Amino acid sequence: MTIVKPLIRSLVPEEFSSLVEEFGQPAFRADQLVKWLHQPRVRQWDQMTNLSLGLRQSLAERYNLEGLTGVERLVSNDGTRKFLFQLRDGNTVESVIIPMSEHPTFCISCQVGCAMACRYCATARGGLVRNLVAGEVIEQILHLLADLESTPHPGMGNRSFNVVFMGMGEPLDNWQEVEKCLKILMDNQGWSVSRRRIQISTSGPRAGLEKLISADPGVGLTLSLGGSNDQERKRIMPVPGRTTLAEALELSAIYGRQSGRRVTLAWVLIAGSTDHPEQARRIVKLARTGPFKINLIPMNPLEGELEAAPAQEVALGFQKILMDGGIDTFIRASGGLDIAAACGQLRRKREKKNGERSSK
Ligand code: SF4
Repeated sequence: MTIVKPLIRSLVPEEFSSLVEEFGQPAFRADQLVKWLHQPRVRQWDQMTNLSLGLRQSLAERYNLEGLTGVERLVSNDGTRKFLFQLRDGNTVESVIIPMSEHPTFCISCQVGCAMACRYCATARGGLVRNLVAGEVIEQILHLLADLESTPHPGMGNRSFNVVFMGMGEPLDNWQEVEKCLKILMDNQGWSVSRRRIQISTSGPRAGLEKLISADPGVGLTLSLGGSNDQERKRIMPVPGRTTLAEALELSAIYGRQSGRRVTLAWVLIAGSTDHPEQARRIVKLARTGPFKINLIPMNPLEGELEAAPAQEVALGFQKILMDGGIDTFIRASGGLDIAAACGQLRRKREKKNGERSSK
Protein backbone atom coordinates (compact mmCIF):
# COMPACT_ATOMS: atom_id res chain seq x y z
CA MET A 1 0.00 0.00 0.00
CA THR A 2 1.30 3.48 -0.92
CA ILE A 3 1.66 5.66 2.14
CA VAL A 4 0.30 9.14 1.52
CA LYS A 5 2.49 11.64 3.33
CA PRO A 6 1.99 15.40 3.56
CA LEU A 7 3.05 17.33 0.49
CA ILE A 8 6.18 19.37 1.09
CA ARG A 9 4.85 22.09 -1.21
CA SER A 10 2.08 22.71 1.36
CA LEU A 11 4.60 24.25 3.75
CA VAL A 12 4.54 28.04 4.11
CA PRO A 13 7.85 29.94 3.84
CA GLU A 14 8.53 30.31 7.58
CA GLU A 15 8.30 26.54 8.12
CA PHE A 16 11.38 25.69 6.05
CA SER A 17 13.98 27.15 8.46
CA SER A 18 12.73 25.09 11.38
CA LEU A 19 12.50 22.04 9.12
CA VAL A 20 16.18 22.10 8.07
CA GLU A 21 17.21 22.97 11.63
CA GLU A 22 15.33 19.92 12.88
CA PHE A 23 17.34 17.79 10.43
CA GLY A 24 20.59 19.32 11.77
CA GLN A 25 21.28 21.31 8.60
CA PRO A 26 22.60 24.87 8.25
CA ALA A 27 20.03 27.62 7.61
CA PHE A 28 21.01 28.21 3.96
CA ARG A 29 19.69 24.73 3.11
CA ALA A 30 16.18 26.11 3.55
CA ASP A 31 16.72 28.56 0.66
CA GLN A 32 18.21 25.83 -1.51
CA LEU A 33 15.28 23.55 -0.83
CA VAL A 34 12.70 26.25 -1.53
CA LYS A 35 14.40 27.07 -4.86
CA TRP A 36 14.13 23.43 -5.91
CA LEU A 37 10.47 23.33 -4.97
CA HIS A 38 9.76 26.20 -7.36
CA GLN A 39 11.23 24.39 -10.34
CA PRO A 40 8.44 23.08 -12.57
CA ARG A 41 10.44 20.06 -13.63
CA VAL A 42 11.65 18.91 -10.22
CA ARG A 43 9.60 15.78 -9.57
CA GLN A 44 12.13 13.65 -7.66
CA TRP A 45 14.23 14.26 -4.55
CA ASP A 46 17.35 13.06 -6.43
CA GLN A 47 17.13 16.09 -8.70
CA MET A 48 17.97 18.36 -5.74
CA THR A 49 21.66 17.84 -6.34
CA ASN A 50 23.06 20.41 -3.90
CA LEU A 51 21.26 18.86 -0.92
CA SER A 52 23.06 16.05 0.87
CA LEU A 53 21.83 12.51 0.36
CA GLY A 54 20.99 12.31 4.07
CA LEU A 55 18.78 15.39 3.93
CA ARG A 56 17.02 14.16 0.79
CA GLN A 57 16.33 10.82 2.50
CA SER A 58 14.99 12.51 5.63
CA LEU A 59 12.71 14.73 3.53
CA ALA A 60 11.50 11.77 1.47
CA GLU A 61 10.67 9.80 4.62
CA ARG A 62 8.42 12.56 5.87
CA TYR A 63 6.98 14.21 2.74
CA ASN A 64 5.69 13.49 -0.72
CA LEU A 65 7.08 15.69 -3.46
CA GLU A 66 4.31 15.06 -5.94
CA GLY A 67 0.56 15.04 -5.48
CA LEU A 68 -0.73 15.42 -9.03
CA THR A 69 -0.50 13.49 -12.26
CA GLY A 70 -1.64 14.94 -15.58
CA VAL A 71 -4.37 12.80 -17.17
CA GLU A 72 -5.77 15.02 -19.88
CA ARG A 73 -4.66 18.11 -21.80
CA LEU A 74 -6.82 19.90 -24.34
CA VAL A 75 -5.91 22.91 -26.43
CA SER A 76 -8.59 25.19 -27.80
CA ASN A 77 -8.57 26.94 -31.15
CA ASP A 78 -8.20 30.22 -29.23
CA GLY A 79 -5.08 28.99 -27.37
CA THR A 80 -6.80 28.19 -24.06
CA ARG A 81 -5.30 25.04 -22.55
CA LYS A 82 -7.27 22.89 -20.19
CA PHE A 83 -5.83 20.23 -17.89
CA LEU A 84 -7.27 17.45 -15.82
CA PHE A 85 -5.07 16.25 -12.96
CA GLN A 86 -5.44 13.16 -10.84
CA LEU A 87 -4.75 13.49 -7.12
CA ARG A 88 -3.21 10.78 -4.97
CA ASP A 89 -6.64 9.58 -3.82
CA GLY A 90 -7.89 9.19 -7.41
CA ASN A 91 -10.01 12.37 -7.44
CA THR A 92 -9.52 14.77 -10.32
CA VAL A 93 -9.31 18.55 -10.59
CA GLU A 94 -9.04 20.97 -13.48
CA SER A 95 -6.79 23.91 -14.28
CA VAL A 96 -6.74 26.22 -17.26
CA ILE A 97 -4.13 28.39 -18.97
CA ILE A 98 -5.82 31.41 -20.46
CA PRO A 99 -3.53 33.17 -22.92
CA MET A 100 -3.47 36.94 -22.42
CA SER A 101 -1.56 39.48 -24.49
CA GLU A 102 1.59 39.43 -22.34
CA HIS A 103 1.16 37.06 -19.42
CA PRO A 104 -0.80 33.87 -19.11
CA THR A 105 -3.55 33.61 -16.55
CA PHE A 106 -3.65 30.39 -14.58
CA CYS A 107 -7.14 29.44 -13.45
CA ILE A 108 -6.74 26.93 -10.64
CA SER A 109 -8.95 24.74 -8.47
CA CYS A 110 -9.01 24.76 -4.68
CA GLN A 111 -11.55 21.99 -3.97
CA VAL A 112 -12.67 18.70 -5.50
CA GLY A 113 -16.26 19.61 -6.33
CA CYS A 114 -18.02 22.39 -4.48
CA ALA A 115 -20.73 22.76 -1.86
CA MET A 116 -22.20 25.99 -3.23
CA ALA A 117 -24.57 24.35 -5.76
CA CYS A 118 -24.60 27.23 -8.28
CA ARG A 119 -27.01 26.39 -11.07
CA TYR A 120 -24.83 27.41 -14.00
CA CYS A 121 -21.76 25.47 -12.85
CA ALA A 122 -20.69 21.94 -13.79
CA THR A 123 -18.56 21.60 -10.64
CA ALA A 124 -21.64 22.01 -8.49
CA ARG A 125 -23.25 18.84 -9.90
CA GLY A 126 -21.46 16.33 -7.68
CA GLY A 127 -21.32 18.44 -4.48
CA LEU A 128 -18.17 18.88 -2.41
CA VAL A 129 -15.84 15.89 -2.29
CA ARG A 130 -12.96 17.44 -0.38
CA ASN A 131 -10.74 20.48 0.06
CA LEU A 132 -7.39 20.57 -1.70
CA VAL A 133 -4.30 21.13 0.42
CA ALA A 134 -2.02 24.04 -0.46
CA GLY A 135 0.57 21.78 -2.11
CA GLU A 136 -2.04 20.41 -4.53
CA VAL A 137 -2.97 23.95 -5.55
CA ILE A 138 0.65 25.11 -5.92
CA GLU A 139 1.48 22.01 -7.94
CA GLN A 140 -1.21 22.88 -10.49
CA ILE A 141 0.73 26.09 -11.17
CA LEU A 142 3.97 24.15 -11.56
CA HIS A 143 2.38 21.83 -14.10
CA LEU A 144 1.01 24.79 -16.05
CA LEU A 145 4.41 26.50 -16.02
CA ALA A 146 6.10 23.30 -17.20
CA ASP A 147 3.57 23.06 -20.03
CA LEU A 148 4.30 26.62 -21.13
CA GLU A 149 8.03 25.95 -20.93
CA SER A 150 7.79 22.91 -23.16
CA THR A 151 5.23 24.44 -25.55
CA PRO A 152 5.57 28.24 -25.39
CA HIS A 153 2.62 30.36 -26.37
CA PRO A 154 3.47 33.10 -28.89
CA GLY A 155 3.97 36.44 -27.12
CA MET A 156 4.21 35.01 -23.59
CA GLY A 157 7.95 34.73 -23.18
CA ASN A 158 8.72 35.13 -19.49
CA ARG A 159 7.64 33.45 -16.32
CA SER A 160 5.24 36.16 -15.06
CA PHE A 161 1.70 34.94 -14.72
CA ASN A 162 -1.61 35.82 -13.15
CA VAL A 163 -3.36 33.44 -10.80
CA VAL A 164 -7.12 33.33 -10.45
CA PHE A 165 -8.84 31.10 -7.90
CA MET A 166 -11.71 30.62 -10.29
CA GLY A 167 -11.51 26.91 -11.08
CA MET A 168 -13.30 24.21 -9.14
CA GLY A 169 -14.37 25.10 -5.63
CA GLU A 170 -15.18 28.10 -3.47
CA PRO A 171 -11.86 29.57 -2.22
CA LEU A 172 -13.39 31.15 0.87
CA ASP A 173 -14.83 27.75 1.83
CA ASN A 174 -11.25 26.42 1.98
CA TRP A 175 -9.69 29.56 3.34
CA GLN A 176 -7.10 27.89 5.55
CA GLU A 177 -5.35 26.26 2.57
CA VAL A 178 -5.97 29.13 0.15
CA GLU A 179 -4.38 31.56 2.61
CA LYS A 180 -1.31 29.30 2.76
CA CYS A 181 -1.16 29.36 -1.06
CA LEU A 182 -1.20 33.16 -1.02
CA LYS A 183 1.67 33.22 1.48
CA ILE A 184 3.65 30.77 -0.66
CA LEU A 185 2.97 32.65 -3.90
CA MET A 186 3.65 36.13 -2.52
CA ASP A 187 6.82 35.22 -0.58
CA ASN A 188 9.58 37.59 -1.73
CA GLN A 189 12.25 34.90 -1.37
CA GLY A 190 10.24 32.43 -3.42
CA TRP A 191 7.60 32.83 -6.11
CA SER A 192 7.37 36.57 -5.51
CA VAL A 193 4.03 36.90 -7.29
CA SER A 194 2.64 40.41 -6.85
CA ARG A 195 -0.66 40.63 -5.00
CA ARG A 196 -1.87 42.58 -8.05
CA ARG A 197 -1.53 39.42 -10.14
CA ILE A 198 -3.73 37.28 -7.87
CA GLN A 199 -7.51 37.22 -7.85
CA ILE A 200 -9.86 35.39 -5.51
CA SER A 201 -13.23 34.69 -7.06
CA THR A 202 -16.04 34.02 -4.61
CA SER A 203 -19.75 33.35 -4.57
CA GLY A 204 -19.80 35.47 -1.42
CA PRO A 205 -20.60 33.36 1.67
CA ARG A 206 -20.60 35.72 4.66
CA ALA A 207 -18.27 33.70 6.90
CA GLY A 208 -15.71 33.47 4.09
CA LEU A 209 -15.80 37.19 3.33
CA GLU A 210 -15.30 37.94 7.02
CA LYS A 211 -12.21 35.69 7.08
CA LEU A 212 -10.85 37.44 4.00
CA ILE A 213 -11.30 40.86 5.60
CA SER A 214 -9.54 39.83 8.77
CA ALA A 215 -6.64 38.19 6.87
CA ASP A 216 -6.34 41.22 4.54
CA PRO A 217 -4.03 39.61 1.95
CA GLY A 218 -4.36 42.53 -0.49
CA VAL A 219 -5.13 40.34 -3.51
CA GLY A 220 -7.97 41.15 -5.89
CA LEU A 221 -11.53 40.03 -5.23
CA THR A 222 -14.30 39.05 -7.63
CA LEU A 223 -17.79 38.57 -6.21
CA SER A 224 -20.34 36.60 -8.22
CA LEU A 225 -23.69 38.29 -7.74
CA GLY A 226 -25.84 35.40 -8.97
CA GLY A 227 -28.95 37.59 -8.94
CA SER A 228 -29.98 41.22 -9.09
CA ASN A 229 -32.11 40.77 -5.95
CA ASP A 230 -32.05 38.25 -3.11
CA GLN A 231 -34.73 35.95 -4.57
CA GLU A 232 -32.85 35.62 -7.85
CA ARG A 233 -29.54 35.13 -6.09
CA LYS A 234 -30.95 32.39 -3.89
CA ARG A 235 -32.49 30.61 -6.87
CA ILE A 236 -29.26 30.63 -8.87
CA MET A 237 -26.79 30.25 -5.97
CA PRO A 238 -28.71 28.45 -3.22
CA VAL A 239 -25.90 28.19 -0.65
CA PRO A 240 -24.13 31.55 -1.00
CA GLY A 241 -27.61 33.04 -1.44
CA ARG A 242 -28.06 32.64 2.32
CA THR A 243 -25.89 35.74 2.51
CA THR A 244 -28.00 38.61 1.20
CA LEU A 245 -26.75 40.80 -1.61
CA ALA A 246 -26.59 43.78 0.77
CA GLU A 247 -24.36 41.83 3.18
CA ALA A 248 -22.13 40.36 0.45
CA LEU A 249 -21.69 43.76 -1.18
CA GLU A 250 -21.04 45.54 2.09
CA LEU A 251 -18.37 43.02 3.13
CA SER A 252 -16.81 43.10 -0.35
CA ALA A 253 -16.73 46.90 -0.27
CA ILE A 254 -14.97 46.81 3.11
CA TYR A 255 -12.38 44.46 1.65
CA GLY A 256 -12.04 46.56 -1.52
CA ARG A 257 -11.38 49.73 0.49
CA GLN A 258 -8.86 48.08 2.79
CA SER A 259 -6.98 46.48 -0.13
CA GLY A 260 -7.09 49.69 -2.17
CA ARG A 261 -8.55 47.81 -5.15
CA ARG A 262 -11.91 47.92 -6.80
CA VAL A 263 -13.87 44.70 -6.40
CA THR A 264 -15.16 43.05 -9.59
CA LEU A 265 -18.80 42.01 -9.58
CA ALA A 266 -19.27 39.03 -11.88
CA TRP A 267 -22.55 38.51 -13.69
CA VAL A 268 -23.16 35.41 -15.80
CA LEU A 269 -25.31 36.23 -18.83
CA ILE A 270 -27.82 33.45 -19.56
CA ALA A 271 -30.20 33.95 -22.47
CA GLY A 272 -33.75 34.61 -21.28
CA SER A 273 -32.77 34.32 -17.63
CA THR A 274 -30.14 36.85 -16.60
CA ASP A 275 -30.10 39.20 -19.57
CA HIS A 276 -33.16 41.38 -18.86
CA PRO A 277 -32.80 45.18 -18.89
CA GLU A 278 -34.52 45.51 -15.49
CA GLN A 279 -31.84 43.25 -13.99
CA ALA A 280 -29.17 45.53 -15.46
CA ARG A 281 -30.89 48.53 -13.91
CA ARG A 282 -31.00 46.84 -10.50
CA ILE A 283 -27.31 45.94 -10.81
CA VAL A 284 -26.48 49.60 -11.46
CA LYS A 285 -28.00 50.45 -8.08
CA LEU A 286 -26.11 47.63 -6.36
CA ALA A 287 -22.79 48.57 -7.97
CA ARG A 288 -23.10 52.18 -6.84
CA THR A 289 -22.90 51.09 -3.19
CA GLY A 290 -19.12 50.54 -3.18
CA PRO A 291 -15.83 50.49 -5.12
CA PHE A 292 -17.11 48.11 -7.79
CA LYS A 293 -16.71 47.38 -11.49
CA ILE A 294 -18.54 44.69 -13.44
CA ASN A 295 -17.51 41.71 -15.53
CA LEU A 296 -20.22 40.21 -17.71
CA ILE A 297 -19.55 36.54 -18.44
CA PRO A 298 -21.56 34.97 -21.27
CA MET A 299 -22.72 31.51 -20.16
CA ASN A 300 -20.41 28.70 -21.25
CA PRO A 301 -23.02 26.04 -22.16
CA LEU A 302 -23.05 22.79 -20.14
CA GLU A 303 -23.32 19.57 -22.07
CA GLY A 304 -26.88 18.28 -22.30
CA GLU A 305 -28.43 21.47 -20.92
CA LEU A 306 -30.30 24.18 -22.72
CA GLU A 307 -29.02 27.32 -21.04
CA ALA A 308 -26.80 29.38 -23.31
CA ALA A 309 -25.28 32.83 -23.68
CA PRO A 310 -27.52 35.53 -25.14
CA ALA A 311 -26.95 36.95 -28.62
CA GLN A 312 -24.14 39.49 -28.81
CA GLU A 313 -26.48 42.46 -29.30
CA VAL A 314 -28.37 41.50 -26.13
CA ALA A 315 -25.10 41.31 -24.16
CA LEU A 316 -24.01 44.68 -25.56
CA GLY A 317 -27.39 46.20 -24.67
CA PHE A 318 -27.03 44.89 -21.10
CA GLN A 319 -23.54 46.36 -20.90
CA LYS A 320 -24.77 49.74 -22.19
CA ILE A 321 -27.34 50.06 -19.41
CA LEU A 322 -24.58 49.49 -16.84
CA MET A 323 -22.15 51.88 -18.53
CA ASP A 324 -24.86 54.54 -18.87
CA GLY A 325 -25.41 54.10 -15.15
CA GLY A 326 -21.78 55.10 -14.58
CA ILE A 327 -20.42 51.60 -13.86
CA ASP A 328 -17.27 50.40 -15.61
CA THR A 329 -18.38 47.18 -17.30
CA PHE A 330 -16.46 44.66 -19.35
CA ILE A 331 -17.67 41.63 -21.27
CA ARG A 332 -15.29 38.77 -20.63
CA ALA A 333 -14.64 36.59 -23.64
CA SER A 334 -15.50 32.96 -22.94
CA GLY A 335 -12.31 31.08 -23.81
CA GLY A 336 -12.02 27.45 -24.80
CA LEU A 337 -15.64 26.87 -25.79
CA ASP A 338 -14.56 23.96 -28.00
CA ILE A 339 -12.76 22.17 -25.13
CA ALA A 340 -15.27 22.50 -22.29
CA ALA A 341 -13.09 25.06 -20.50
CA ALA A 342 -15.67 26.30 -18.00
CA CYS A 343 -15.27 25.24 -14.41
CA GLY A 344 -15.82 21.51 -13.86
CA GLN A 345 -16.91 20.48 -17.36
CA LEU A 346 -13.91 18.35 -18.27
CA ARG A 347 -14.02 16.46 -14.96
CA ARG A 348 -17.74 15.89 -15.38
CA LYS A 349 -17.26 14.53 -18.90
CA ARG A 350 -14.60 12.12 -17.69
CA GLU A 351 -16.71 10.91 -14.76
CA LYS A 352 -19.63 10.29 -17.10
CA LYS A 353 -17.38 8.33 -19.45
CA ASN A 354 -15.97 6.26 -16.57
CA GLY A 355 -19.50 5.66 -15.27
CA GLU A 356 -20.66 4.44 -18.69
CA ARG A 357 -17.67 2.11 -18.94
CA SER A 358 -18.20 0.60 -15.48
CA SER A 359 -21.91 0.03 -16.12
CA LYS A 360 -21.21 -1.93 -19.30
S1 SF4 B 1 -19.59 28.63 -9.49
FE1 SF4 B 1 -17.87 28.45 -8.06
S2 SF4 B 1 -18.89 28.59 -6.06
FE2 SF4 B 1 -20.52 28.11 -7.51
S3 SF4 B 1 -20.67 25.86 -7.50
FE3 SF4 B 1 -19.23 26.43 -9.15
S4 SF4 B 1 -17.22 26.29 -8.19
FE4 SF4 B 1 -18.71 26.42 -6.55
